Amino acid sequence: MKRHAEESFKTTCSYCGVGCGIVVKKNRKGKITVEGDQDHPVNRGMLCSKGMNLHYAMQDQSDRLLHPEMRWSRNHPYQQVSWDMALQRAAAVFKSIIQTYGPDAVGFYVSGQCLTEEYYIANKLVKGFLGTNNIDTNSRLCMSSAVAGYTKTLGEDSVPIAYEDIELADCFFIAGANPAWCHPILFRRIEAHKQANPDVKVIVVDPRRTQTCAMADLHLQISPGTDMYVYHAIARILIENGDVDYNFINNHTEGFAEYRDAVFNVTVEEAARICDVPESDIRLAASYIAAAKGFLTLWAMGLNQSVIGVNKNIALISLNLITGHIGKPGSGPFSLTGQPNAMGGREVGGLATMLAAHRSYANPEHRKEVASFWGVPSISEKPGLTATQMIEALERGDLKAIWIICTNPLVSLPDTRRAEAAMKKARFVVVQDISRKSDTLDFADLILPAAGHFEKEGTMTNSERRISHLSKAIDAPGEALPDVEILCRFAKAMGFHGFDYNNVDEIFDEHCRLTKGTNLDISGLNYAQLKESGTIQWPVPEKNHKGTARLFTDSQFYTPSKKAKFHPLNNPENQSEPLTSDFPLILTTGRIRDQWHTMTKTGKVNKLRQHIDKPVLEIHPHDAMVRNIKEGDVVEIDNFRGTVRVSAKISEDIKKGVVFLPMHWGKILQKDLARANNLTSHLVDPISKEPDFKFSAVEVRKF
Ligand code: SF4
Repeated sequence: MKRHAEESFKTTCSYCGVGCGIVVKKNRKGKITVEGDQDHPVNRGMLCSKGMNLHYAMQDQSDRLLHPEMRWSRNHPYQQVSWDMALQRAAAVFKSIIQTYGPDAVGFYVSGQCLTEEYYIANKLVKGFLGTNNIDTNSRLCMSSAVAGYTKTLGEDSVPIAYEDIELADCFFIAGANPAWCHPILFRRIEAHKQANPDVKVIVVDPRRTQTCAMADLHLQISPGTDMYVYHAIARILIENGDVDYNFINNHTEGFAEYRDAVFNVTVEEAARICDVPESDIRLAASYIAAAKGFLTLWAMGLNQSVIGVNKNIALISLNLITGHIGKPGSGPFSLTGQPNAMGGREVGGLATMLAAHRSYANPEHRKEVASFWGVPSISEKPGLTATQMIEALERGDLKAIWIICTNPLVSLPDTRRAEAAMKKARFVVVQDISRKSDTLDFADLILPAAGHFEKEGTMTNSERRISHLSKAIDAPGEALPDVEILCRFAKAMGFHGFDYNNVDEIFDEHCRLTKGTNLDISGLNYAQLKESGTIQWPVPEKNHKGTARLFTDSQFYTPSKKAKFHPLNNPENQSEPLTSDFPLILTTGRIRDQWHTMTKTGKVNKLRQHIDKPVLEIHPHDAMVRNIKEGDVVEIDNFRGTVRVSAKISEDIKKGVVFLPMHWGKILQKDLARANNLTSHLVDPISKEPDFKFSAVEVRKF
């Protein structure tokens, strides 16, 4: 305890989905500091650079929104108003639009950073009471391909592993992910495990030689978009060599013969040529997997943010299925979650295409169950608009009002200039946020100041299904309110009943009750138990249940047949926009180590700017040379969607023909010309609707 420390509060880091436990300490003067929670099973006291500096972002109130503000039209200035006036205006506009155009003319766009209770209330409000499924989340840009991949193979969106499997695995297959920078505490656990057990093998599949490759035994530096070829080639080698688990395949899966035929369509030699990696390296990867007793596949945005993202997920999960490495210690497919509460959002049905507790809007029984639980006549059978579909609906004029909570789509959505043009067409835009630096604020008719992460109570679920309780540590500034309170007040202003809660415990209890009898049943859980145990992994179906570390230990899956499902993916070819002679380079985008999303939090912290303080374009020496580009030159990256202008960083770490831009910088922080999403494609995966952020055709010129 520090000298002035008077109080300490346990919470969870607000950045990535690793879900590290944090102790917030507050001294007599109200100054806060943070430390890693030594008792937390995830991080055991460790924090990465972002988590360790979280208190600076939380305590700096220089950019905070303090009062509700609104303008009567886009030509009028903003004026400060009371909460009552702000929410009455919102209710009047929403009622009028719904009466005139129907409920599908309004939509909510929320965030994987919302707490579970906020997510729950937003979904109840929109799907239960406004009468539309038009509520989507920025997790659409992050995890929706993994959700669909799990559902198609395992029967439901269910991450089967526990982090404790890291210390039990002896082969890690990390694909399309850079956990060294994006999930650092998990990466440190893998590193420590490998250091203690040098025979542990780490295979990395990535078009970039990232920091994660530093400890890899093998790096398959594939061409972007060729991932499925490499997974299929590995599967073919394992099948040919008899290194598959036929006992598991025969008893617990279906569709293997068709999958095998699809895999055998392409030779290993052809796959190596298409992926542009040595055939011997693919064979070496297969030999590591064949020898493994515990085999973990880990992946993130390289797979998910793709026009064939769902198929990439299915093809990778299939490697766990053919080897029987699922539901066993040290084994399983493990999607690395980008945001702190993407998983909690999925639990409450926080995507436009889901209902609470992994129910489906397309299932009449599920709709009936949820409607009856909420005491509403029905739930719409029409799928809601996904993130990019909301932009299209705004363009067409079908979506008239949009309410944006805790996300900054005008930096993070693909093809942002198109998104801006669409947003201008909206009749009414509500932005509910903590920061005045959100670029999306430019379009707001109504601005609602929200409480920050340390300023409210609630729960979140991390990547291993671990639910944590977050205590409130400090008061919100000005008139800012917790998101859940804003939503409940709006619901009441709309005249809806069912939003009178005395505290967030009651909301959490209601959410838990709605999961009863489902595969993610947490009906045995309540705040008291959660506070006592600190954290717990779902399902928790009974009182005093200890939680569930690992799913599918009995090899019974969530499909109707209880068998995991193979899919014959006969066309592994990438479907991204084609390269042309005008735009011959592949642009891929991603995170850097010390920044988070659109930098409205991490951008305020000096220490976090020291690592990389401005966006740069990574380009291979050959591609730079033929364009007469030298290290540090200002370059322009173009395509028919837009332009980015940044300095060049010449590096052999990036594959020839590929360039990389960080995704964090937006207009407000670095002018329009640093915004990577000026260039990214509006194409989405046909099933998950997740955008193709990792493959856009561009040209680069010296400026
Ligand atoms: Fe926060 Fe993720 Fe870092 Fe843990 S690893 S401290 S959750 S950003």
